Amino acid sequence: MTGLSAGLPSSHPGQFYVNQPAIMPTPESTRPARILLVEDEAKTRASIREGFLLEGWTVTEAADGDEAAALLTAGGHDLCVIDRMLPGRDGIELVRQLRACGDATPVLMLTARGTLQDRVQGLDGGADDYLSKPFAFSELIARCRALLRRSDRNPPRVLRCGDLQLDTRARVAVRAGREIVLTPREVDLLEYLMLNQGRTVSREMLEREIWKQPRRLTSLDNVIDVQVMRLRKKVDLSNEDSLIHTERGVGYRLGESGP
Ligand code: CA
Repeated sequence: MTGLSAGLPSSHPGQFYVNQPAIMPTPESTRPARILLVEDEAKTRASIREGFLLEGWTVTEAADGDEAAALLTAGGHDLCVIDRMLPGRDGIELVRQLRACGDATPVLMLTARGTLQDRVQGLDGGADDYLSKPFAFSELIARCRALLRRSDRNPPRVLRCGDLQLDTRARVAVRAGREIVLTPREVDLLEYLMLNQGRTVSREMLEREIWKQPRRLTSLDNVIDVQVMRLRKKVDLSNEDSLIHTERGVGYRLGESGP
């Protein structure tokens, strides 16, 4: 893969909300795009992720078809980049399922094979675009940008978990009808946990996706723990109905069921 540095954004990603007061609505145009990346080959996945992060996009990853199916059901992505050949459900099956639910999120399919029949199958299955490996990274980015431009990112999108709701456009959280006042960082954190609900989110993932500092010499673990604790105090009204769970030694998980 080449050209990973192509398209480097002029501003550092992750600085969108630094000087904003809490609950300030974020203009949709400055909200980072959320990409679901489904690729079983770890090296390829890592290099695509790095490139997407350089674009300032937020990346959720899945390494097999079944993991991807759960994330697709939870929704909340602006674009899905899905490898055709996957363990478990394959890429075509995933897109068919997505479309069968009436979900029009744009899908770019990747494949090791580039035959005409392959492309036709992918597009017939509901993919919006198709890219054969090996590809130039700049082409992948250009195609993703085109799909993001075409996709409708404007309607407010509400994420839900039990009686908790987060309006990702207005950046307002409500639990059982009560508005929760959150700082911009807490909104980012809650949004990431909700997008990954039911899965354990490691501190490493939070450091990379929310704090955008993947190569620090000193760990941010304490900072992250304190921030999650503050968020939990605001979101969880009592121990009985807690939604944010600690996975000891690993990280956190948002979901209705306890550990
Ligand atoms: Ca594959």
